[in-house]
Formats: sequence, C-alpha cells, structure tokens
Amino acid sequence: MKTAQVYKDKIIVKDSNDIKLDGRKGAIVKVLGCGLCGSDIVKFKHNIVHDGAVLGHEIVAEISEINSETSFKLGDKIVTSHHIPCGTCKYCKHGNVSMCEHFKKTNIFPGGFSERVFVSEEHLKNVAYLVPNNITNEEISFYEPLGCCIRAIKRCNLSEGDSALVVGLGSIGLLMSEGLRALGYKVYGCDLIPERIELAKSMGIEAFNSRNLDEFEQIIKSKTENFGVDSVFMTSGADKAIDVALKAVRQGGKILVFSSTPLSNGYPNNEIYYKELTVLGSYSPSPSDLRDSYNLLISGKVNVKNLTTVYPLDKIQQAFDDTISNKIFKAYIKIN
Ligand SMILES: [Zn+2]
Ligand SMILES: [Zn+2]
Repeated sequence: MKTAQVYKDKIIVKDSNDIKLDGRKGAIVKVLGCGLCGSDIVKFKHNIVHDGAVLGHEIVAEISEINSETSFKLGDKIVTSHHIPCGTCKYCKHGNVSMCEHFKKTNIFPGGFSERVFVSEEHLKNVAYLVPNNITNEEISFYEPLGCCIRAIKRCNLSEGDSALVVGLGSIGLLMSEGLRALGYKVYGCDLIPERIELAKSMGIEAFNSRNLDEFEQIIKSKTENFGVDSVFMTSGADKAIDVALKAVRQGGKILVFSSTPLSNGYPNNEIYYKELTVLGSYSPSPSDLRDSYNLLISGKVNVKNLTTVYPLDKIQQAFDDTISNKIFKAYIKIN
C-alpha cells in the first residue's frame, strides 16, 4: 500500500507493507481521504517526527476488513478521530481528557496519509461514526477539527448570546466562527489578510482588519456598547495576536488560547490581574465534543462547503507547501 512518509524536509510517497487485522479486534479501512491539519504542518515544519512517520488523522474511510463487537460492517463509510481517553485517570476525572496518558498513546495506524489504516476496536466504540449520504467526504473530514473548536467553545462556558472575537481567519478560525454561531453566540472575526476577511464576510461573519489596533479597538467597542467582547478565541499563533486580544476583550472576559506562538510570549500578568481576565487553553477533543461536531456537520448547522482544496496523494508535498504559504485554506488529500 502507498503511504506518505516524512523524511526531514520532504514528504515522500512510498510503497510499504500492506496491513492486515491478523486476528486483532477492530477494522482495516480503505482511506478515501484525509484532511491536512495545522498540527501536521507544525510537526513537519519543526521536524518533530522521526523519518518514515506517516502524518494525518482526519480520515474518511471505508471498512475493508472487520472483527468487532460494534454494529459497523464491511463496506461502511466512517469518519473517526485518533485519540481516546481512558476515562478513569486523574485528568479524565477532571475533564482534562487531552492530558490523559492513554489519550496521547492511542492513534490510528500508521497514520491517515496512507491507503489503508488500522482502526482499533476502541476507536470504533468511542469515536467512529457512519457517514450519511447527504454530506461529502471533504465536508465530513472536518469532524475532528470542528471537535477541537467545540471543545474550546465549551471550555469557555459562555452565557447565552455572549459575544466572541475569533482572532485569525484561516480554516480553523472560520470553523471556530461557524461553531460559535451554531451554538448561538455573537461572532466577530479579525485577520490581517484581506482575502481571508472577505471569505469570512461571504460566510456571514462580521470580520475586520486588525492591522490598525486603535481603529480596531474602536470598532469592537462600538459593537459591544463600549465593553469589548465577552470572549476571544486565539486561532492565530502570531505574537501580535495577543495585543489584539487584549484590546478587544472586556474586563472580566475570557481569552481562549488555541495555538502555539513562535516566541514564548505570554499574557501580561497585570492585565490578567487588574481586568480579572480568564486565560485558558484548549487542545484536543473528548468523545462528547466529537459527537457534537458530528451532529453539527451532518445537520448542516455548521457550513464547511468550499473550504477545502483537494490534492491526490502523490501531490501531498504540494498540499503542505500551499498550506504553509497560505495559498489555500484547508487541504484534503484524496487517497482512494
Ligand atoms: Zn486535526
Ligand atoms: Zn485518562
């Protein structure tokens, strides 16, 4: 079977040994396609995976071999994510599932950018769903990334009708905006790239350029009876994004950190203290966040149409390059 493997600063499509169930519980799936995640880009760019690693985890796939107690059967089209919490450790009991050791250890094998993948019984039981006919493979591939956004939104514990500013309008920023809107919050977005702002507007999101910070602050104040927004979602990893957040958030508001920054810049202690801000992080989704994501996608409440650019597996390097250079919003690798 063909797999896309990382070798230093390149991704090479190679033939490797086919995988079989060999008596294990779970399923072998034929990967129809796999979304390219921002975290795949980070792992590739900063070279934090070993040579030969197969990235990708946002898979849509068809079951080609199965030995399972679940109701899934041969030929079913499914969507799944890659990590599962144990449910019993200290982290899980406190709702910090993405810190759970078991969560970090579990994965699909060898990775989504592969013609075939082993999906364990645990995956089938907890995080896999049937894909209905009314949604395309590209659209349902947002299942895991939207799950990450839903988790972030839930962690903020907002009140009905609260306002939110999404900083950064790349694919995750747009997804976050869509998620916030679907859950009933008032959403604003900002970015520095005019095309992104236009796309957000075309999706019905009130979006602004935050290049001029004072002007931007005035706009946000004018929209929020001079308070500032109740919450800020940091989907941009630019250091400058922190200044944007601090200009926009109201006193007593919340800032949700959703990406790493190149420098280890943090939030100023005194702003947090005097303004009684809550700064919190959100990383990876729990099975219940994923269930919410699945339901929002298949009901059409979250619109992800026209966000993806499709590449065949042999053009995966191009997909990485185009994502890194901001040429596209979201790549989807079509595999079978
Ligand atoms: Zn992802
Ligand atoms: Zn656990």
